[in-house]
Amino acid sequence: MPIIPIKDASGIAGMRSSCRLARKILLQLVGGLEPGQTTGEIDRWAGKLIAEYGARSAFLGYRKFPGQLCISVNEEVVHGIGGGRRLAYGDVVKLDVGIILDGWVGDTATTVGVGAITPARQRLLEKSQNALAAGIAAARGGARLGDICHAVERTVKEAGYTVVKEFVGHGVGRKLHEEPQIPNFGKANTGPILRPGMTLAIEPMVNEGSCEVRILQDGWTAVTADGRDSAHFEHVVLITDGEPEILTDSLGSERDAKALASGQGIR
Ligand code: MG
Repeated sequence: MPIIPIKDASGIAGMRSSCRLARKILLQLVGGLEPGQTTGEIDRWAGKLIAEYGARSAFLGYRKFPGQLCISVNEEVVHGIGGGRRLAYGDVVKLDVGIILDGWVGDTATTVGVGAITPARQRLLEKSQNALAAGIAAARGGARLGDICHAVERTVKEAGYTVVKEFVGHGVGRKLHEEPQIPNFGKANTGPILRPGMTLAIEPMVNEGSCEVRILQDGWTAVTADGRDSAHFEHVVLITDGEPEILTDSLGSERDAKALASGQGIR
């Protein structure tokens, strides 16, 4: 069994700060999305924001990743690199922000529409968010890791979509990727027992069509093999004796959801 780090009180405080800041930056980026913007412009803007808050990107330089954040559009699943692609009205954009603040990593992602999106895209986003919520609800002290994986997978399957198997959620703390790996599929009541003080990034990647993905020539960008849409949502949670605490929830979930929704409007 992998050794899963347990954070003490100061580690939890550090994770709270880094995770809240990651979410704050993510929401600011969402609020500024506009059609016509290039993903490279968003990347530069993210770099500026991260620096202004006294943090640094957890992704830049990670295995030579060249971006400040991951920006993935429509059929791009995860790990998109900011560049020349222009956002168009009706696109769905995945932003994944990872930062290091005072030695602790915050990691959070969301998917939003650029302006009005089709009902099919809206449904994909809603069901994928539900899958994250189901995973979080299963992340209780005393439960087992497989309970999270199973809850995510079941929710996605029931909606008629598929989960990506190549990429997984993960423990997070001093390092971006700690034990355990958290696949978006698995059996309930299996795997390590969840203990208070664990900090876990839960991140369903949900495909509208086939679960298969391929990697573009840049060596990073994962796209759906069938070219259909994909959605990605990520929160870091702290395992407690009862309900998990969502560390990447800077505003409280209701206001957080409103902030995301307002980002979908075009100013
Ligand atoms: Mg992550």
